[in-house]
Amino acid sequence: MSRKEETICAPATSSGGAISVIRISGPDSFDICEKIFFPIGRTLILKEQAGYKVVHGEIRNGKEVVDDVLLNIYKAPHSYTGEDSVEISCHGSSYIVTRILELLIVNGAISALPGEFTQRAFLNGKMDLSQAEAVADLVASGTKAAHRIALNQMRGGFSAEISKLRSELLRFASLIELELDFGEEDVQFADRKELTEIIKKVKNLADKLANSFSLGNVIRNGIPVAIVGKPNSGKSTLLNAMLNEERAIVSDIPGTTRDSIEDSIVINGLEYRFIDTAGLRDTSDIIESLGIRKTNEKIMEASVILLVDEISETPEMINQRADSIRKMITGFDKRLIVLVNKIDDCDPSLMDNLKRKIWLDIDDSLLFISARYLTGFEKLRARLAKILEKGNFNQEDVIITNVRHFEALNHVSGSLERVISGLDERIPEDLIAIDLRQAIHFLGEITGEITTDEILGNIFKNFCIGK
Ligand code: GDP
Repeated sequence: MSRKEETICAPATSSGGAISVIRISGPDSFDICEKIFFPIGRTLILKEQAGYKVVHGEIRNGKEVVDDVLLNIYKAPHSYTGEDSVEISCHGSSYIVTRILELLIVNGAISALPGEFTQRAFLNGKMDLSQAEAVADLVASGTKAAHRIALNQMRGGFSAEISKLRSELLRFASLIELELDFGEEDVQFADRKELTEIIKKVKNLADKLANSFSLGNVIRNGIPVAIVGKPNSGKSTLLNAMLNEERAIVSDIPGTTRDSIEDSIVINGLEYRFIDTAGLRDTSDIIESLGIRKTNEKIMEASVILLVDEISETPEMINQRADSIRKMITGFDKRLIVLVNKIDDCDPSLMDNLKRKIWLDIDDSLLFISARYLTGFEKLRARLAKILEKGNFNQEDVIITNVRHFEALNHVSGSLERVISGLDERIPEDLIAIDLRQAIHFLGEITGEITTDEILGNIFKNFCIGK
């Protein structure tokens, strides 16, 4: 029996909740459940029940009662996977979940691989590949913005449009190939003007989507922030203060905790991720030992650089340090914010003097703070929020977050570029057809109309079990 014909099972919820859900999908779902599930107070045959029905009963192993459960029945093709499926809601004990899974396996089910439910949904035509990939993003989304993009993509997002344009290109490719079959005869089935128009349309879309990737990437993975500056300027105090403030904000919302997301804060629905904070956490002089090279690497990895200096420092020194970073980042899409720290610990005249002497032409990239007393933090948060103004993208904007899509779109754009110039220069049709086919191939890779086992394997192995 091939794996596709097997009935798979897995826990669909993570441990720790009051209720756990176990998922079963495949042709024998009902028969297998029948052997271990006993409705309370009546007899019924699961297979004969209508879809979307919930049945109350017990899971038993012989005479031993394992748990009191609810069984949700889904009939093919009206289920997540498109197959006959059952979801068992049991009590959230890892012992119970393991016992039920054991019983399912003893009675003929096999353990699902990561992402196998979603892979089956894809193979059964319930969703295309980019939608299936969005499911993983949706499960992983930790901020409002990431959630919105994943949801858009799961609902079909750009793949429906790509699929439509792809079939138009396919029609043209076939027409051109037909012309080639006529060999020497000078016939043209494919209207060149129409062809050029559609190609430009597809190329524009591919470019637009590819361009959205850097934004998408930032939204999905967070904006990398580096905190740099000389030892004792207050970098770790600043980091801890920002993280603690975040925890305080979030822990006001009942039932939430941000402890699981290390070293990041959320401003306006976007995540800012402090990179390489190990050195900052350690109180020994790791900072010196890591040296300049490490700091430079950190700056190059970040989108935002927070340079922390002390109010007791001379303006010349601060300018010099800021300048050297600015030199490093010119030409890159990076922002520098200079934070002059410890303003609680100085004479107000000192601050005025500094303010005058530090390059004031640099918009609002200079902030005076006290990491110890959280002074100036509101301004810092506002400044960080402003960095990604594009972050306030429209609800309808399609943004790609997936490097696989990004690469495929670049290939599409490159091949179409060659088709356009080929048409201009009237190069032989057979060469144009090759580039056209290539673009069609890469478009198909995005939606899954073209797949290889390697592509599928790579995508689904990153899913969690039970999804
Ligand atoms: P780092 O080496 O840059 O990480 O600096 P630390 O965060 O370890 O801070 C060095 C010293 O400066 C510590 O004694 C902090 O308590 C102190 N410090 C940090 N921020 C402030 C501040 O805003 N005001 C004052 N007065 N002291 C601070």
